[in-house]
Amino acid sequence: MKLLVATHNPGKVQEYRELLSELPADLVFPAELGLDIRVVESGDSFEENAVLKARAFSQASGFLTLADDSGLEVDALGGAPGVRTARYAGHGASDADRYQLLLHNLEGVPWEARTARFRCVVALATPDGQLHTAEGRCEGVIALAPSGEHGFGYDPVFYMPEYGCTMAELDPAIKNRVSHRARAVQAAWPILEALLKSQQAG
Ligand code: IMP
Repeated sequence: MKLLVATHNPGKVQEYRELLSELPADLVFPAELGLDIRVVESGDSFEENAVLKARAFSQASGFLTLADDSGLEVDALGGAPGVRTARYAGHGASDADRYQLLLHNLEGVPWEARTARFRCVVALATPDGQLHTAEGRCEGVIALAPSGEHGFGYDPVFYMPEYGCTMAELDPAIKNRVSHRARAVQAAWPILEALLKSQQAG
């Protein structure tokens, strides 16, 4: 059975290859199918955006599809950037531009008030229109300066007190056990298995 993992983000592609390696399914990615769909993330929640992406890719490909929407909620910013995490520094910005803007907006905010979390909602869509979602979260603190080379996105500024380092300094195998995305996949796993079984039977 094929499972389309609907992301163009190289960091996510690498993580999903690991996270889904034990699943009894052949993973395919949009680039391999020549599917260059860019879904406008117009929803007001991670869940709505994940569903928009999963549905669009499933309908275009005819495959069971997994998509995610994720982002960072910073308490001192009232939960921002939230669903706007990818667009935080405007069009054409790099990962570094985005996390530097975040650090700038938190200047003067003391350590104990820099609490934040990554959230990830995984959506599963079948070609016949079934939809399921599952969420994972990961709590941390926004660091005072970037550090670390692993991962992607805001990892260099996401400090994890229980490991004493940023997500970008963490061994990628550990990130893949404890991240928001890992937890969302763990929560979605039973649904994924059931969907794969029923697609196989049908
Ligand atoms: P989206 O889920 O592709 O819309 O990404 C939302 C934003 O969150 C992007 O700027 C990503 O770089 C960032 N992001 C998503 N997941 C992670 C992660 O695991 N680590 C760091 N940044 C992330």
